[in-house]
Amino acid sequence: MHHPILELREVSFTYGEDVVLERLNVTIREGAFVGVVGPSGAGKSTLLRLLDGTAKPTRGTVLLGPEGRSREIRLGVVPQLETIDWNFPITVEEVVLLGGAADAGLRPWASAETKSRARSLLDELGIGPLAHRHIRNLSGGQQQRAFIARALLRKPELLLLDEPTSGVDVATRHDILHLLHSLNHEGIAIVITTHDLNAVAAHLPSLICLNRRVVAAGTPDEVLREDVLRELYGAEMLVVRQDGMLLVGDAPGAFRDAHARAGHPEGIAAAHFGEEPPEHEHPAEEEDRHTPVRTRQEPL
Ligand code: ADP
Repeated sequence: MHHPILELREVSFTYGEDVVLERLNVTIREGAFVGVVGPSGAGKSTLLRLLDGTAKPTRGTVLLGPEGRSREIRLGVVPQLETIDWNFPITVEEVVLLGGAADAGLRPWASAETKSRARSLLDELGIGPLAHRHIRNLSGGQQQRAFIARALLRKPELLLLDEPTSGVDVATRHDILHLLHSLNHEGIAIVITTHDLNAVAAHLPSLICLNRRVVAAGTPDEVLREDVLRELYGAEMLVVRQDGMLLVGDAPGAFRDAHARAGHPEGIAAAHFGEEPPEHEHPAEEEDRHTPVRTRQEPL
């Protein structure tokens, strides 16, 4: 039986007047590997902040452990790389050691044991030789590994990652997801947010589709359905099942149909697909009606 590590019960969250998350019921159990998907602005990062305790629910309850019986849980958090100040003068090893700051007590420096653990984590994650490099001078995938090492230093039971696969190439994305899989096999529960539906369909056992509320939750097979994705993204998407694999893409013609329905504002050239656009004629009288445009000869 996998006990709950963290539970949100009927949790809502508002920024000022704006309701960002509404009546969420989410349970993260021991050994879970959960992907949170949804459009931009859906509240995915805010959900992670509720899970890591940096945001407090406006309504509802957060329970630690089964029935809220735990007083604390060990969390590792990997922030979105985009939120990091890369000019801060810090090496890869120092980034990892920061992960132990919360446990260091009054000591301003890391113990020999923590340093040795940081080095072995860097080795295990394949970036040991980069330990003394400035964090800025790493590839996106290597930076992601450095921040995962930082989170692992605390031996977390739950690891939260905000878009760990954004901004990296396909091979690196697979590497990161495989790495997270092995960590999950070692017993760490993991929650990630992502935009990459195909990667989560292939790699993750369970998904939460979030858009202000939980639109659906379950296995990729259960939730990656055209009706759910339409409700989630407000757009038509195609789900193909082939040889036990799930592939999600934009529905063919969805953009063209929406474009045709909406038309396009007068005076703005339409994008054309395939054929050359017809020659556009501008009779003199029609041109006179247009707003004058400034020409090179006019004074600036
Ligand atoms: P996602 O991660 O799915 O893109 P976020 O959780 O970042 O969504 O944001 C959810 C909503 O909350 C968005 O509408 C966003 O503009 C708003 N929001 C996020 N952070 C703040 C903030 N600090 N103050 C006010 N509104 C915010």
